[in-house]
Amino acid sequence: MAKVSEIYGSMVFNEHTMQERLPSATYKQLMKTIKQGEPLNLEVANVVAHAMKEWAIEKGATHFTHWFQPLSGITSEKHDSFIEPMSDGRAIMSFSGKELIQGEPDASSFPSGGLRATFEARGYTAWDPTSYAFIKDEVLCIPTAFCSYTGEALDKKTPLLRSMKAIEVEANRVLGLFGEEPQRIVTTVGSEQEYFLISEKDFEQRMDLIMTGRTLFGHAPCKGQELEEHYFGAIRPTVNEFMKELDDELWALGVSAKTKHNEVAPAQHELAPIFTNANRAIDENLLTMEKMKLLASHYGLVCLQHEKPFEGINGSGKHNNWSISAGKKNLLDPGESPMENLRFLVFLTGVIQAVDEYQELLRMTVASAGNDHRLGANEAPPAIVSIFLGDELGAIVDALISDTEYESADRVSMDLGVDVLPSFLIDNTDRNRTSPFAFTGNKFEFRMPGSSVNLSDCNMVLNTAMAKSLKEFADEMDGKTGATFEHAAIAYIKKTLRDHQRIIFNGNGYSDEWPIEAEKRGLANNRTTADALPCFVAPKSIALFEEFGVLSETEVRSRYEVKLEKYNKLINIEAKTMMSMVRRTILPAINDFAGDIASNMISIREVAPEADLHNQKNRLQKLLDGTNEINVHLATLDAAHKKAKTIEDQQERANVSAYEVIPAMEKLRAVVDEMEVEVGSERWPYPTYNDILFYC
Ligand code: ADP
Ligand code: MG
Repeated sequence: MAKVSEIYGSMVFNEHTMQERLPSATYKQLMKTIKQGEPLNLEVANVVAHAMKEWAIEKGATHFTHWFQPLSGITSEKHDSFIEPMSDGRAIMSFSGKELIQGEPDASSFPSGGLRATFEARGYTAWDPTSYAFIKDEVLCIPTAFCSYTGEALDKKTPLLRSMKAIEVEANRVLGLFGEEPQRIVTTVGSEQEYFLISEKDFEQRMDLIMTGRTLFGHAPCKGQELEEHYFGAIRPTVNEFMKELDDELWALGVSAKTKHNEVAPAQHELAPIFTNANRAIDENLLTMEKMKLLASHYGLVCLQHEKPFEGINGSGKHNNWSISAGKKNLLDPGESPMENLRFLVFLTGVIQAVDEYQELLRMTVASAGNDHRLGANEAPPAIVSIFLGDELGAIVDALISDTEYESADRVSMDLGVDVLPSFLIDNTDRNRTSPFAFTGNKFEFRMPGSSVNLSDCNMVLNTAMAKSLKEFADEMDGKTGATFEHAAIAYIKKTLRDHQRIIFNGNGYSDEWPIEAEKRGLANNRTTADALPCFVAPKSIALFEEFGVLSETEVRSRYEVKLEKYNKLINIEAKTMMSMVRRTILPAINDFAGDIASNMISIREVAPEADLHNQKNRLQKLLDGTNEINVHLATLDAAHKKAKTIEDQQERANVSAYEVIPAMEKLRAVVDEMEVEVGSERWPYPTYNDILFYC
């Protein structure tokens, strides 16, 4: 087997390959585009395209595709071969700069939230040179943005890139106050991807998993996660083989898969890469998810990326570790000197202000039918956004807020005048796992995103909200220098922290007291997707996006529509699947089992007329009662589902989905799950949690 260092990045047209393959003038020009965002002319693009094609063909590629992220969140691709027929019957392989820069997929079938009427279906994809092209399954994939001909973004990437630009501009203004030259500033992301692996043969027998990605029924297994043996436990041999192949494939694609381990729930695992710039990190995460699904099939496994495939055991999240870097500097790193600390405090305060001001918007970005089962359950952070700072930093912030002296853990009291700002050590060990937004040493970890989400939305909001905090600071400090600046900055920090103090919460986010306390503090608690989405189109949100050129009002509204529609469609599919499973499989199975008992009773009576059959009778009665109850709840669900379907307005429909359809589904499920443990295992039509989660 080839060495890892040889495999790593071998399928990526990365900087190293560019330098090797491009004439030096072209390379320099392209670097200016990549690093400084300079426009690229067609001449340069032609040279790059040619080199890319030659490289790709050597690696066995026959096709190319513009790889993009429509509003569905998953990636899309349409493959075109390099082939160009000649008049003499032969063919050459060609790929032009124009084909590299721009593509024209038939866009009519992608969600657009009304932005692009079907008759005006044209949209175009535009090369994003800041994320490397790569080869996947003999196809040269070119990461692209996807827009309509009128210029509106139809994808997840475009607004993310716009938000990264916004934060770069404002962060540079702030750094300028600290005497720094303008520089390339990017937000960094490291995403921890959780997933389940189950056996294909169990998957294939469950219509709910096939149709909805989660189990709509299933009694809790005899053993759950209470023994806490799975987390970091020895990995099943087949799973281990899968993980090895996954690593190899990802490394070849330049994805720095770093950590892999078993998660808390049985059959649950996690993969974390090393962080990189947000744009690339999200592309990498999408590739990772795709590869996971594909490679699982090599081992007779299915990779479930739903947020809550199984009730009663942990669901899957995707922690979004986020920071801002300027060159080699991490701006959320406290640093050693007083001035570095002041800069850190400015950025920290900016984050606290951003997350408090736009808490609902942040919550909105992770709202989905799947994640609703996770947020607030005892495994994931609640639907309330709050920030955890840890003991040391928490104490410093407290001291700033109350204008008192900071006393470090070892009781050395320090004056918070700027000259002697403590060069504090961040306690990295005290991590509050219940917090949705936690400071972890030199970055924040946003823990609300669900496993299937495209992280572009939450990073777009984080970046834009942060750009606003930084802008306000820079505006206020305009023209101030030296000691005047330092004193003004400290005063600003203190005031801003005081104004946004309510968002800081170091306690247990899972406790029953927290929602009550949070309400007192005026923090939002949008429990369902239906409650969370309207904030997207609130005037305050639209104003934010427009101020920084991240999304226009039209774009915001279309995205809101797409999210609503997706939610409504998913709930519709779930309700239909559930009713079909009950009517066509579960009720007949219970009936058959009841029939078995009744015939057995007759047979026993024949040979033993005096036999005591009261146990059989009780069991039979239980089954009949259960069947009745199921029918009652089925009727309620049917009515709620029909009602939802007739509602034109998507928000109203979502409200009915959340507050009528889903509760009816939960009630129906509860009775069916009770029946599951009453019916003989041969008669139960579906693999149970015991079967699915504890395979070998
Ligand atoms: P844990 O499971 O304790 O949360 P992991 O090591 O699994 O920690 O994941 C931490 C993630 O944070 C990794 O993907 C890591 O690369 C990422 N990370 C570290 N530093 C930064 C940073 N400055 N910006 C963004 N992500 C970061
Ligand atoms: Mg984590």
